[in-house]
Amino acid sequence: MIQSMYSKLNISKEVFDFCNGISEELSQRFTEIDLVAEYNQLKVIYSMQQNKVSDTHFAATTGYGYNDLGRDTLEEVYASVFNAEAALVRPQIISGTHALTVALFGNLRPGDELLSPIGKPYDTLEGVIGIRPTKGSLMEYGISYNQVELLPNGEIDYDHIKKAISPKTKLVTIQRSKGYAIRLTLSVEQIGELITFIKKINHRTICMVDNCYGEFVQKIEPSDVGADLVVGSLIKNIGGGLAPIGGYIVGKNDYVENAANRLTAPGLGKEVGATLGLNQVFFQGLFLAPQVVASALKGAIFTASVFERLGYKAFPNATEDRYDIVQAVNMESPEGVIAFCQGIQEAAPVDSFVKPIPWDMPGYDAPVIMAAGAFIQGSSIELSADAPMKPPYTVFCQGGLTWHHAKLGTMKALQQLVNQKIIQL
Ligand SMILES: *Cc1c(COP(=O)(O)O)cnc(C)c1O
Repeated sequence: MIQSMYSKLNISKEVFDFCNGISEELSQRFTEIDLVAEYNQLKVIYSMQQNKVSDTHFAATTGYGYNDLGRDTLEEVYASVFNAEAALVRPQIISGTHALTVALFGNLRPGDELLSPIGKPYDTLEGVIGIRPTKGSLMEYGISYNQVELLPNGEIDYDHIKKAISPKTKLVTIQRSKGYAIRLTLSVEQIGELITFIKKINHRTICMVDNCYGEFVQKIEPSDVGADLVVGSLIKNIGGGLAPIGGYIVGKNDYVENAANRLTAPGLGKEVGATLGLNQVFFQGLFLAPQVVASALKGAIFTASVFERLGYKAFPNATEDRYDIVQAVNMESPEGVIAFCQGIQEAAPVDSFVKPIPWDMPGYDAPVIMAAGAFIQGSSIELSADAPMKPPYTVFCQGGLTWHHAKLGTMKALQQLVNQKIIQL
């Protein structure tokens, strides 16, 4: 019966058999993922119960948003989930980049230095920092920037980090996920070691973690291992696919307050900011997030397993431990990249009839192809894939609100490669 459904979705018998065999082999791995999801689900429920979440918290506020009980309770819940003192969780934070920007501008002052100890941060931060000259960057406000590269073997260069930390170093930014770079994603444990090392050199250095793509992948978060600030987007993991906008900043009281004063206005801070009826989906998205992240992880492991079996290289590989939800696959040719992305698009619940093609996107040095059929525009906790059209022709694939949708996405990608005679099963 199930094969006839796949057949209606244009999955051939060969692709079905090939993929089903592989998904059956993954049951042990999936059990481990479910155990992490179970732990995180309980953590979220416990935090909601401790803070007495109630349906009165779902009421909409407008205007200034004074006394928004739902917003304040949501922030208490986030603080509790992250084992942090305070949280700022707002629809006025429009993306992950914006959340990071607010945290940085709120906590850095002219003359301070920002340090990235693990190489270049996420692309969009180049403009924020001023690595790429940009109007309004930290650089323009007299905040300098320093960067320590990873060692050639990909490990953290502790010797150089020690040398790079000076009395000027006010804040260290640590990116958990590799994002779209070719390096390893850091585990929370590795982040903890790095923070301990930095604090030993200067205990007043603020350690901030860009947590994008990392939430609920492990049982602990960076704030459990000493991070002073943890920052992310609600249209990635922690919004559970329901949050239609938003970002969060959690951590020490003072640092979160500095960020709040920057997001709204000095003196107003967390006291204002209407939530316009979004609290309910923020709570509900957080509630679903552990399960959604588990689905995305299963999808990523399945993708790696299928394409490795066909001889392609996957990063991380099919058996490695995972610390974020991003899966890269080296498709080896432009045709391979396009077919993969077209397959992902065909599996989507929204815009499945659209054919993605590469285009010259501003800010990129090669044409880019993107596949996403999402309920929330740009959401990357929903199944999506993108790739720059240049060697080594690597596709980055992430998300999947349900495991079965993520599975269909990979099967469709494979079906496209078969249909276009790029591979033979
Ligand atoms: C997505 C992402 C960002 C930026 O988030 P946007 O919401 O796209 O602005 C920053 N850092 C990492 C590691 C990311 O994955």
